[in-house]
Amino acid sequence: MNQHDLAAHSVYAIDRWGHEFVEVMPNGDLGLKNPLNPDGPSVSLPSIIHGLQDRGIDAPLLLRVSSFLEQGIRNINESFRTAIDRVGYRGVYRGVFPIKVNQQAQVIDRIVEFGRPYSYGLEAGSKPELVIALAHRLAKDALIVCNGVKDAEFIRLAILSRKLGFNTVIVLESPKELETVLEVFQELGQEPLLGVRVKLTNQISGNWAESSGDRSTFGMHTDQLVAVVDRLKQAGLLHCLKLQHSHLGSQIPDVNDVRRAVGEACRYFTELSREGVPLTHLDLGGGLGVDYTGERTASENSINYTVAEYCANVVETVAYAMDEAELAHPTLVTESGRAVVAASSMLVFNVLEATFYDAHSAPKPDAEDHHLMTDLAEIASYLSENRIQECLNDATFYRNELRALFRRGYIDLRQMARGERIYLHLMSKIKAAVPSAGASAEIDAQLEQLADIYHCNFSLFQSLPDVWAIDQLHPVVPLQNLNQVPDRRAVLSDITCDSDGKIDQFILADGVSPSLPVHTLDDETPYYIGAFFVGAYQETLGDLHNLFGDTNVATIELRPDGGFDLLHEQDGDTIAEVMSYVEYDPRDCVDAFRKLVEQAISENRLNAKERKTLMAAYRDSINGYTYYE
Ligand SMILES: *Cc1c(COP(=O)(O)O)cnc(C)c1O
Repeated sequence: MNQHDLAAHSVYAIDRWGHEFVEVMPNGDLGLKNPLNPDGPSVSLPSIIHGLQDRGIDAPLLLRVSSFLEQGIRNINESFRTAIDRVGYRGVYRGVFPIKVNQQAQVIDRIVEFGRPYSYGLEAGSKPELVIALAHRLAKDALIVCNGVKDAEFIRLAILSRKLGFNTVIVLESPKELETVLEVFQELGQEPLLGVRVKLTNQISGNWAESSGDRSTFGMHTDQLVAVVDRLKQAGLLHCLKLQHSHLGSQIPDVNDVRRAVGEACRYFTELSREGVPLTHLDLGGGLGVDYTGERTASENSINYTVAEYCANVVETVAYAMDEAELAHPTLVTESGRAVVAASSMLVFNVLEATFYDAHSAPKPDAEDHHLMTDLAEIASYLSENRIQECLNDATFYRNELRALFRRGYIDLRQMARGERIYLHLMSKIKAAVPSAGASAEIDAQLEQLADIYHCNFSLFQSLPDVWAIDQLHPVVPLQNLNQVPDRRAVLSDITCDSDGKIDQFILADGVSPSLPVHTLDDETPYYIGAFFVGAYQETLGDLHNLFGDTNVATIELRPDGGFDLLHEQDGDTIAEVMSYVEYDPRDCVDAFRKLVEQAISENRLNAKERKTLMAAYRDSINGYTYYE
């Protein structure tokens, strides 16, 4: 194994989670691979960042890669097509993208464009999402599936949109919703295209277990289904009910859960068909997972299957059930969001500075220093591989004693500073004494407390909210120097004033680690870190903690020659913009500030020239980026 492998692949497991999208280039840069042109050259991510910086687009930055998104759309549609061919399924796949997962116009526009050849549609879970869906030109036979709680206005728009050629399906969430549909039907005299949401009883494992099973908040149980069928029959509209919907969950770790849930959904489908419901579409919702860690296991941040396997399981299960019930094979619909978009965006941020818990050198104790200081310094003389724990114990003891003396006024600030420095130097010697195979769990845990803190230019709450909320793991790696062995370990803290604003769980080759191997920073060159698979859910779930706003966003396309084209850029929020989100009028703030400045002039605390500088500084801030510039 050469150094290159050692530094990059075996440490960060890049080829495990990123093999389709990224690779380490010979110069140590992380390169983006074009999944649509796998034999083409990779494009260096640091060179993309520098190219964007030259254009005035700075980190922190959300980078969307158009070809990654196209690959996501292709992958699910082609995988269903392949499975359908292989199984001999006599029906088609008509997927829809759930807008909730990434509502950004640049993303939805591209999804519609890339999806058109596959008659790929959209799923709307709310009125605003339906309004967005209806602003797109979809393929003639693409679906718009409307889930979620619907009022008369929502239903009216859905029914009327059919006049424009949209195949808008209103998925009934409850018997009560059907009453509203019937009222709107009376009012418009136009028939709805209906679906019915069935609550499956199969509980699914993973982070989102609660979105499945008896206690899930959506869908109807058997008793309600029967009531809906009867009511539709009575109203003479049973023929409008074409689609059965069940949402299996999200990030389903185990493919056997998919099989079980699809099997249960088929039971409802065959029973409803037997009741005379002319169902033609079976919608299985979301749940197709992303292998964030690349481990291919049935655990919360991983999955034990591929997209192709998921598709094959769905197609086989449905074909088998329909054949057994002697029913025609329905059109298959899924609403996969995460698996389609997660890989298409990455967050790039720079490291601002580091806090260290060790030191390269230390002063000798002064002759008149307290004897504890000499005791502390002498630990180094008996440090060896098999006395590490003892040295750690002694060091902790002497440092605590010194701190107690300082608190009581027995030693002064400079003496205490010397003591801290001696202690930190000892820690770096202890780290160096640890054998490469590692030490005991106890020692490892203590040494983790000595990891550096790398202070980074991003807000966890704005850009990686699931990391904060549900301990979501994303691959996080340095974007350069990957041909050099990382010589430090660090926890990444963000720029908010919140101790929760940090990343301290990292996907590494040997498991999840509380610190990230990194390289020593140098003052000359910026050090960039990327968080991957952030295209699903993170953008709109993010919040304005400390009023850090949206980051800059760039959408790029990878060129076959190893370069890139900038397709679109979106400036991040300015301070004025985030102020307006919390109901400040920036102009009022400028006025208020100006009054304070004027008062200072009239009290001779400021002259006219200083006023100009002060006002310019205030205005520059208000119009600037919320992040460190
Ligand atoms: C959230 C949601 C989805 C998307 O789920 P993923 O796990 O991201 O694929 C699909 N359908 C419905 C009804 C949803 O609520």
